[in-house]
Amino acid sequence: MEILIIFLVVTSILILHNPVSEWINRLYVKRQYKSFLAQETFYHSIVSKNIRYYNRLNLEEQRKFLFRTYLFHKAKKFHYIEVTPTAEMPILVSAASVQLTFGLDKYLLNYFRDIYVIKDDYHYGFYSRPFMGHVDLSGIYLSWDNFLKGIKGEQPNCNVGLHEMGHALAWVNFITQTEEDKHFKGEFKNFSKVARPIFESMQKGAKNILGDYAASNYHEFWAVSVEVFFENPIRLRHELPELYKAMSTLLRQDPSVILTAANKIAA
Ligand SMILES: [Zn+2]
Repeated sequence: MEILIIFLVVTSILILHNPVSEWINRLYVKRQYKSFLAQETFYHSIVSKNIRYYNRLNLEEQRKFLFRTYLFHKAKKFHYIEVTPTAEMPILVSAASVQLTFGLDKYLLNYFRDIYVIKDDYHYGFYSRPFMGHVDLSGIYLSWDNFLKGIKGEQPNCNVGLHEMGHALAWVNFITQTEEDKHFKGEFKNFSKVARPIFESMQKGAKNILGDYAASNYHEFWAVSVEVFFENPIRLRHELPELYKAMSTLLRQDPSVILTAANKIAA
């Protein structure tokens, strides 16, 4: 019995000890990579057909993007409400999260295991207006029709997938603190130095590209900034250059450059 207790204590210390858990994690990722390679073409066919951001990456980045999408997909349990599940649904939802966190080290949004895909706008709690998506302790919720409109760019500056993943990223770093990204957490203070004054001026009535909804509270300001950063980077960079720069440093990526480079190739 004593031996068993000692064994359990030593094992838990080893597991909790960071280098050991990182080593186990690396081993897991390595093993997953083999199964990913067998599915890479399938993932590529779905992601390249739907995610513009992905098509602007170079080949090496595309493989990193797909592998992260695969790991994210595998780590989550998807639930489908009033909608017929398709193979593309969990892959595209995972891809939205990977796009947001592509410049970060942590990208699994650990804490959130359940993702709910709902047919279209829905009512939640006591709110009178319908929801396109939300995040709470029970999971990440997305309406599929709005999600598709977002990735197709049908509604200017709107991308509900990126918006909700923005909330989820803030949750795991600041609320549940279950998957803290060192860089993101440290840099968020600098982001807020630039963002807070813009948010406060919007609360007093100032108008800008982010739109009125971003003025509701600081959480929404952040999630809307994420959407506009990816959906309209050149205009955001032009209109709110300091905010754009702070977002770009925080997320360690610059969609405006990727966009400009892609346009040059296309021209
Ligand atoms: Zn929101």
